[in-house]
Amino acid sequence: MPENGRSQWFYLHPHVHTCAKGSSGLLHDPLTGHTLEYTNEPAITELVASLDGPDNLRVVDYADVSVTQPAVADFVDRVRALHMGGLIDKKHSTGKPIQMTPRARVQRDPRKDTQDADIMLGEAVMGYVKEVTVHVNRVCELDCSLCTSAYKQFRCCTRIEGGNEELDLATIRNLLAELASSGTMQVNMMGGDVFSYSRFEELIKLVEASRFYATLHTHYLNLPETAAALEILDARRWTMELLVPMPVDRVRLAEALRKLRAAELPYIVHLVVETDDDLAEAEGLVDALGLVDSAVRPHFNGENLAFFEENVFFTKDDVVAARPSPQDLYASSRTNRLDFGRLVVLSTGEVFANPNNPKLGDLASTSVHKMLCHEVRRGESWFRTRSCVKPCRDCVFQCMCPPISDYEHAIGRNNLCLAPPREVGELGAP
Ligand code: SF4
Ligand code: SF4
Repeated sequence: MPENGRSQWFYLHPHVHTCAKGSSGLLHDPLTGHTLEYTNEPAITELVASLDGPDNLRVVDYADVSVTQPAVADFVDRVRALHMGGLIDKKHSTGKPIQMTPRARVQRDPRKDTQDADIMLGEAVMGYVKEVTVHVNRVCELDCSLCTSAYKQFRCCTRIEGGNEELDLATIRNLLAELASSGTMQVNMMGGDVFSYSRFEELIKLVEASRFYATLHTHYLNLPETAAALEILDARRWTMELLVPMPVDRVRLAEALRKLRAAELPYIVHLVVETDDDLAEAEGLVDALGLVDSAVRPHFNGENLAFFEENVFFTKDDVVAARPSPQDLYASSRTNRLDFGRLVVLSTGEVFANPNNPKLGDLASTSVHKMLCHEVRRGESWFRTRSCVKPCRDCVFQCMCPPISDYEHAIGRNNLCLAPPREVGELGAP
């Protein structure tokens, strides 16, 4: 406890993240990575709530802090030792010091306004879109076991049944034209087998005429036999995404990579794994084939939960060690950072913010703007934060954990944490 009596202010730095549930909570300093937890301490919860109150702006009179309680005194000492806050002698200020404390909010949030939200949003909502994935067809000669599920877990081609064999070029042209004035930076073109799209060359020219950064996604076994189809791609405009599920045909993968290198096309290899053996094979490929740009994509097939628990689930220590930035923490408190700004268009013309959730509309009958207003108003994907779902909404790690991902959808639970933090159990979350 400080010796200098009580004529001091106790303050918490504005960038320190706080979260309290019941009488437990945590403080996290994203600049240093320090995390301070407290459990079943109503007096500390009261102190933190008082600091966070709009009238205090994270500064309170130290005379009002219940430091006669050992837990509170210890908390104050730990806050000071971790440089999350401190004490200032009152003689250094003529009144109570003021701190600017940031608050996360979504610009033009129509969920707060029951008036005509579409009008209120105006065209500004188009600025939210960052990335659009278009499945131009559902035609493919291959027969991957992951075909109907992987596209709901990560970016992956699919040939799901229903609707048109392919999206007609005029629809894609209209879509790109509507996105031209949006915030879209990246479009991802895929199938099915994108190379079997009936007007493939026109599709490529259409995308190249746009301002978007573009990726072309294909299974490595669907890469064309001849180099001609690759030669029409402008290597300055396209990045190839190669889907490589395990087990792999090494000879044909090496051949596919040779073609891409010959065409001087930048590429990234997505190594899809379901088991420990797959993972070992994928790691071996990275070394054997000199894969510089590659990413391992675990696929949940309904039977490999143990593999996910081992390789995808995370612990509280992982969350703390990841040191989410202040921006991550603010964004996670209001949006789903994985989904926000993302749209997926199936070859049926149906549009999704996330294919795991109900569709937003259909390109044949609804404008992208209308669909975006729908998503922003409903918030089913872009605003699906951990604070909305059980058990995370009762957990003090809700903003520090990674956003709810498509794996949570696939596995059927909202928390992929191992041995959930003790606060969850103590708070009696279901
Ligand atoms: S390559 Fe893609 S579209 Fe074809 S079967 Fe495999 S996952 Fe499905
Ligand atoms: S319960 Fe949810 S918020 Fe808490 S640690 Fe697990 S995943 Fe994160």
